[in-house]
Amino acid sequence: MVREAGRIQFTDRFAVSPLPEITVTTTKSLCQTCMHVREIISGKGSRFLLCQLSQTDARFRKYPPQPIIRCEGYEKAGRDK
Ligand code: SF4
Repeated sequence: MVREAGRIQFTDRFAVSPLPEITVTTTKSLCQTCMHVREIISGKGSRFLLCQLSQTDARFRKYPPQPIIRCEGYEKAGRDK
């Protein structure tokens, strides 16, 4: 037997969601520890990571899709040169 409640269908044995399974990732992004990143908080409270290398090098996107796991421009923040 299938009953519907909102967008979730219930069968006798378990609930079946028509939406794709949501995967939460905890992979850390290199950007989080990179000296070239600048955190931007929008007026609505959304958080974006801006890559400052994008201002001088077209290989880097202004807002790189997260998480970044490999990057030619990565330099650890706080490291002496
Ligand atoms: S250089 Fe790479 S790791 Fe650093 S902020 Fe830009 S995209 Fe992220």
